[in-house]
Amino acid sequence: MFNRFKQWRSRRILANSRISPEQWQRMANKLPVLSRLATDERQRLFDLATLFLHQKTIEGAGGLNITEPMRQAIALQACLPILNLGLDWYAGWQSVIVYPSGFTRNNTSVDEFGVTHTGNVNLSGEAWLKGPVVLSWTDTVDAGQLDGQNVVIHEFVHKLDMLNGRANGFPPMQKGMNPAAWAELMSAAFEDFQRSPKIGLDRYGATEPAEFFAVLSEVFFETPELLQDAYPDVYQLMTRFFQQIPLE
Ligand SMILES: [Zn+2]
Repeated sequence: MFNRFKQWRSRRILANSRISPEQWQRMANKLPVLSRLATDERQRLFDLATLFLHQKTIEGAGGLNITEPMRQAIALQACLPILNLGLDWYAGWQSVIVYPSGFTRNNTSVDEFGVTHTGNVNLSGEAWLKGPVVLSWTDTVDAGQLDGQNVVIHEFVHKLDMLNGRANGFPPMQKGMNPAAWAELMSAAFEDFQRSPKIGLDRYGATEPAEFFAVLSEVFFETPELLQDAYPDVYQLMTRFFQQIPLE
């Protein structure tokens, strides 16, 4: 009953959407990170992004005015990791806050407060446990270009990681996945990466397992061939976690 109600509600939201398929398509064409998707996958992504925008608020901070194209660009990239998982993977929090550019945090006890961030003093993004995702627009506008760096994917993957508590590189597994195999393969790759960084994989990933997972996810969606070269087992594992095969 509840599921049927949910489906009915989703259909109504989609039917009443102000964003036309042509508008979604125009925005998607500007984001090379979506170029691997087949036509039917793109259509599902547009629907998911519509529901995402209905469910979440995207607010400007520091005087930034959020435009409709900005909302669409964020929604499409935020929904790419959950294309085959569903919006429930982003349950339990409400808002995305966007600053005009990099923002600073003088919070030194990061772990204690459950905050995970990208960068050091000047942050390009941040994901709060049970709280908002924070993005810098100057960094977001560069995302989606197939260079293996995508602040939107990075921060939203932290949100997946936080579904079972503080971000630690160990998100809830999909049905049929072996948590022990995830822990073993990811830890081995993380330790290797700390010893010998790989071309095309942001060294920031060596700071902690949560950042390693987020950095690898950026590469998984933008430059998957580099991930497959560096860590083929991890690439395979991530195809099962995200239920997507970017190199197909
Ligand atoms: Zn991070």
